[in-house]
Amino acid sequence: MRDFDKKKRIVVKIGSSSITHKETGGADLVRLERLVRELTDLHNGGRDVVLVSSGAISVGLKAANIRGIYYSGSERHDGPDEKLKLKQAAAAIGQARLMMMYQKLFSEYNQMTAQILMTKNTILDNLNRFNARNTFEELLLLGVIPVVNENDTIATHEIEFGDNDTLSAIVAALVEADLLILLSDINGLYTDDPHKSSDAEFIPEIEKLDETVERFAKGSTGSVMGTGGMATKISAARIASASGCDMVIANADDLGNIHRIATGAEIGTFIHSDRKPDFYIEDFLNEE
Ligand code: GLU
Repeated sequence: MRDFDKKKRIVVKIGSSSITHKETGGADLVRLERLVRELTDLHNGGRDVVLVSSGAISVGLKAANIRGIYYSGSERHDGPDEKLKLKQAAAAIGQARLMMMYQKLFSEYNQMTAQILMTKNTILDNLNRFNARNTFEELLLLGVIPVVNENDTIATHEIEFGDNDTLSAIVAALVEADLLILLSDINGLYTDDPHKSSDAEFIPEIEKLDETVERFAKGSTGSVMGTGGMATKISAARIASASGCDMVIANADDLGNIHRIATGAEIGTFIHSDRKPDFYIEDFLNEE
């Protein structure tokens, strides 16, 4: 049984592929609108809500009309450094656009929103972490739904190693969330890659994250735009679980899954929290 209707503070993570059009990378307004409606409804029902949203790079590449250059290169953009600069510029353009859309859509429901961009340093630096936590706390008290992303524009190593699955677990730990809903393009966790193996079995519930579970996710890859595959979802689960936060990995196909999960429907893979008494978020980033 999932008593998720008692969960007061919920972090929802959505990936680029779930809010952009595959063909063009442009924002999928129908899905963004639905997402915002679901989140506002959760908030209207008395929950604290935080959204971790990807999509900045995808939306920026489309807006600046540089998808072709980004994927196929050009005379001036043929090395990794040039590509990185392009990605960072795209993130700067796209994040502002994305936030403008969120702002507009949330305001249609009289819901306040705010932007928080983070890097690993936000967590590793004691003062930054303290400030970030205070800001989240204050925003949630004010009834705001913060929209969080990595600060891809300045954080080179975040772009290369970071991913928003991990970020969402870090945010869940930072705000001491009760539930993290990680929405993906897959129904949840399987014993093997279901695209490659017909023997792959769906796992509805994980009581304890052990080596067997970690093995299931080994070698899986992410989608074209997002950086996270199943392996990053498992490492996100390790952080969330150790911090005392339950987590569900579910399909973003139907965004109605958000309210269904939040009211206890058995959708996706439920990973139970297993709070470690000596949990420090920064330890999980130092590991890398
Ligand atoms: N932060 C990136 C973006 O907004 C995406 C990273 C990810 O999806 O893991 O485009």
